[in-house]
Amino acid sequence: MRNKIVAGNWKMNLTFQEAEELLSEIADKLEKIELRDTEVVVCPPFPYLEMALDIAGESVFSVGSQNLSEYEKGAYTGEVSAQMLASMDVDYCILGHSERRKYFGETDEIIARKVDQAIRHEFIPIVCVGELLSEREAGKHFDVVREQLEKGLFFLSEDEFSSVVIAYEPVWAIGTGVNATPAQAQEMHAYIRQLIESRYGKDVADETPILYGGSCNASNAAEIFAQPDVDGGLIGGASLKAEEFVKIVEAAVNKK
Ligand code: PEP
Repeated sequence: MRNKIVAGNWKMNLTFQEAEELLSEIADKLEKIELRDTEVVVCPPFPYLEMALDIAGESVFSVGSQNLSEYEKGAYTGEVSAQMLASMDVDYCILGHSERRKYFGETDEIIARKVDQAIRHEFIPIVCVGELLSEREAGKHFDVVREQLEKGLFFLSEDEFSSVVIAYEPVWAIGTGVNATPAQAQEMHAYIRQLIESRYGKDVADETPILYGGSCNASNAAEIFAQPDVDGGLIGGASLKAEEFVKIVEAAVNKK
């Protein structure tokens, strides 16, 4: 059976000292719970990765980056390559987040190149898909998500795809306080799993973790995670508070 995952996306928040404090608090709280088949991932900003890896080394959580370059190496000022991150032992990488699509012009084609980099350097990519509110209102949400998956991910071979984690993040739910209902999340997650099955077969579909993201917090996580095709969450705002984040982790652990 597939593992459950709770990943924290810190985005561009916190000073170095605040980040260190938060990670230590998360590590302390995680020590008190038995994670069983749940993985915890923290994705801080790039400059904090080394410090996060140090604390993670004494704890049970893994570390991910929030992005990586589509290019392998060379004259790309300001970019951070998959090779660099892999050499630091970063395990996960968030790709295709809607904020990168919106503010940095990332298209499905760019995301596909980043996914390719991530796979070549043996990362576990957490690939985000999700529709805008206008697209849902127009009844196009399934088509939008299908296209994002087909262009951004389904070029991978079956073997390559087997390390991928997908996060369904309806854009209208990110940072808004309006989460998808458990039924809306389940409907889309089941659809995504069905698409994976058509492309890669049932075994791969059954093993692919599909996370929900969008205003998920300690109050609604258990209900959302209880859905059969929801395998945990990608958590933004609520991952910046240790107590709240670890309660969300507990909701995943307690999922039947
Ligand atoms: C996110 O940015 O991935 C996210 C899910 O944000 P929030 O939890 O704040 O809605």
